[in-house]
Amino acid sequence: QKMIIAIDGYSASGKSTLAQNLSKKLKYTYIDTGAMYRSITLLAIRKKMFHSDLWNITNFIPFLININFQFKWNNKLNRTDIFINKENVQSEIRSIEVSNKVSLIARIPEIRKKLTIIQKNFGNKKGIVMDGRDIGSNIFPQSELKIFMKGSIEVRSYRRFEYFKKKGKKISYEEVKKNLFYRDMMDLYRRISPLKKPKDSIEIDSTLISTEKQLNMVVQ
Ligand code: C5P
Repeated sequence: QKMIIAIDGYSASGKSTLAQNLSKKLKYTYIDTGAMYRSITLLAIRKKMFHSDLWNITNFIPFLININFQFKWNNKLNRTDIFINKENVQSEIRSIEVSNKVSLIARIPEIRKKLTIIQKNFGNKKGIVMDGRDIGSNIFPQSELKIFMKGSIEVRSYRRFEYFKKKGKKISYEEVKKNLFYRDMMDLYRRISPLKKPKDSIEIDSTLISTEKQLNMVVQ
């Protein structure tokens, strides 16, 4: 019987790698909720809605009302791409600029409310793997399998630094580490649905465990 798998945890702890591997193995749909917060951040950057504007959410509401998300399988790259209002933004939302602003956007109650409704709707269909910060604690507290991922800040930063390097992005290890630490703090200590380990979750420390081993542990 198909179920809902909720994966939460710290930034760059390997959530999406595990989620993608699980979804391929089990033929489940993968929903990346971080990509949804990142897409809204990208919109805000494009509309130059930052600094003072950000605190006046009424300016942002018109963009939120009709926002449309789609997740589509990309055969060539063997992964899922996110589309916002029919535009593929999968690569653009990974930039360091979006990474540095997304946790501010994710604290805004109206934005969380909107995304919570959309994310809960995905649960009408079983057979999904969803990753984020509040999936097991807030979106699907009834989910049958909850995973919580953590890892040392050094190893997480190093992996993310290597990712940027491979993409040809000039960014230092220190800058990556600062971003991960900042997001973890913002996500842990915000008032609404913060990053939290669900009581009934299985914890995985990805610091020294290969991605294959993580997959096998969860499948078992
Ligand atoms: O998963 P990812 O690192 O791409 O998420 C980017 C940011 O989106 C997180 O640092 C967090 O601020 C926000 N987020 C959230 N709740 C989720 C998923 C992501 O607040 N369920």
